[in-house]
Amino acid sequence: MTTASPAAGVVSLEAARRIVEQHAATVSAGKLETFDLISASERTLAEPIVADRDFPPFPRVTRDGFAIRARDVAEIPARLKLIGEIKAGDAPTSAVNVGEGQAVSIMTGAPLPPGADAVVMIEYTAQSGSTVEIKRRVKTGENFVPRGAEARAGQVLLDRGTRVDHAAIAVVASVGKSTVQVFRKPRVAVLATGDEIVAIDEIPGPAQIRNSNTYSLAAQIRNAGGEPILLPIAPDELVRLRDLVEEGFKSDLLLLAGGVSMGKYDLVEQVLSELGAEFYFTGAQIQPGRPVVFGRCTQQTRAGAPAPHVHGRYFFGLPGNPVSTMVTFELFVRPVIQALSGRKPQPLIFLKACLKSDVRTKTGLKRFLPAVLSGEFENAEVELAPWKGSGDIAALAGANCYLVIPPDREQINAGEWVSVMMR
Ligand code: AMP
Ligand code: MG
Repeated sequence: MTTASPAAGVVSLEAARRIVEQHAATVSAGKLETFDLISASERTLAEPIVADRDFPPFPRVTRDGFAIRARDVAEIPARLKLIGEIKAGDAPTSAVNVGEGQAVSIMTGAPLPPGADAVVMIEYTAQSGSTVEIKRRVKTGENFVPRGAEARAGQVLLDRGTRVDHAAIAVVASVGKSTVQVFRKPRVAVLATGDEIVAIDEIPGPAQIRNSNTYSLAAQIRNAGGEPILLPIAPDELVRLRDLVEEGFKSDLLLLAGGVSMGKYDLVEQVLSELGAEFYFTGAQIQPGRPVVFGRCTQQTRAGAPAPHVHGRYFFGLPGNPVSTMVTFELFVRPVIQALSGRKPQPLIFLKACLKSDVRTKTGLKRFLPAVLSGEFENAEVELAPWKGSGDIAALAGANCYLVIPPDREQINAGEWVSVMMR
């Protein structure tokens, strides 16, 4: 009954990631917006952040102690003459100039006075009156940061495309900017499909399921830096599905959930084909999530040209099983949303943890099984969440990561170090 069969096939996880990353590298970010520093948090910089002066702007002392000349303490103990005190915030003056045999009492954050080339920590000194005894040697350059050592005035501190996290905000604040240019969040349309799916404010019939995917995806989109646009549920019926898909293409990216498997009423790929879609993959060798589809509307449709806004839009067809939907989002959708947000590409990072109890699986697919990561400091431990398959949302909510199982492993024993994908 399917008239249009997508050309692309099932590829490995790694190949699917490469394909997504290659396409993500070609998308352009949206318009620029200006926000105050706090509101810009977790968005993406659309302007480079440039040092407005040298960092640090003066030779900044990093310990409480005494500013001295290192050669004066080559022999210890050394007795030096105390000639003054400089605290944080005191302007550097030539009035205090550390000469041979002299020391200046100095605080963390204060400017190193001229003449001095090191700071001895207060712990290694004993002061009596105007004499200070130095009990430990220091090398030239110790315990202060020279002017401009971190950055010179005019130097780029943060590139365009950097995520505005708390550390980036510290940099923006330190150059004296109270507002910052960021990229507009990409609009990501979410279209759940399925005759059995009902809206959450409806009373489901005996064979109906409430729509959870639209909401989990919306949360993931937000977390990835996008703005979710929620569409009504599409039935497994060509005309209505097609209308809603076209509606979805008004956004920067369209995510469909459900209807991409091999069932008789899985119509998503057919509708996309009719809208002129080019498919880059129609499955990945993973579980859950194998039927995932990625493509773009590029070609002329058979039934005439598509609405202009459809052209060039990327889409994902995510499998409808809630866990599959979540996993395939993390693996494939996130990089495209990041690229549409103007963000530099981020690699998919797996952590290592010690497996707590034996795991048995079937070989052939790379598996992402909901799991619980625990243990503090260097003692990360992981074990499978007790879940009943791809539809078990409650078990997934109790998990906090995915255990990644290579396709060639049938049995993994407790005590082995395994890969974990955070969520
Ligand atoms: P499908 O990918 O359409 O074959 O759906 C696979 C499974 O996921 C079926 O059991 C569906 O009922 C379920 N499912 C599909 N869409 C949703 C949704 N939006 N919310 C919750 N469950 C869904
Ligand atoms: Mg379905």
